[in-house]
Amino acid sequence: MSLEDERIAELLRKHDLKATPQRIAVMRVLLNGGHYTGEQIYNEVKKREPSISLSTVYNALEALENSGLVRSFEFMGVTWYEARLEPHVNVICVDSPERKIVDVDINVSSIMEALSSKGFVVKNLSLVAIAECNKSSSLSS
Ligand SMILES: [Zn+2]
Repeated sequence: MSLEDERIAELLRKHDLKATPQRIAVMRVLLNGGHYTGEQIYNEVKKREPSISLSTVYNALEALENSGLVRSFEFMGVTWYEARLEPHVNVICVDSPERKIVDVDINVSSIMEALSSKGFVVKNLSLVAIAECNKSSSLSS
């Protein structure tokens, strides 16, 4: 096991998850940053673990999400997964052919306060914006 895998295994155990090779492999992809569909993760993981099945990947994703290590959101029937846990808006660029997703940090405290004042105990806040991104000055890179 590589040092990186060891570190991921430790992270999983800290969240009361058994550190199976499949979960480690899935988490390793997500920790690269960015947003992935289950199928994209499957294709990445398969390079290292050729015998893994798509359903195993989805089972691993479910376990990781239930333990709070991974977040997901949906857009047009597709579920996207990410390991970025800080609250942010996932901006989906509908004017980019590959449906680029950009993370934008925002202060969500007013949303959280509004929800908790109504008695909600928020477990996960998922914010998705559908946007035209070509005109955005923050995407000049
Ligand atoms: Zn994101």
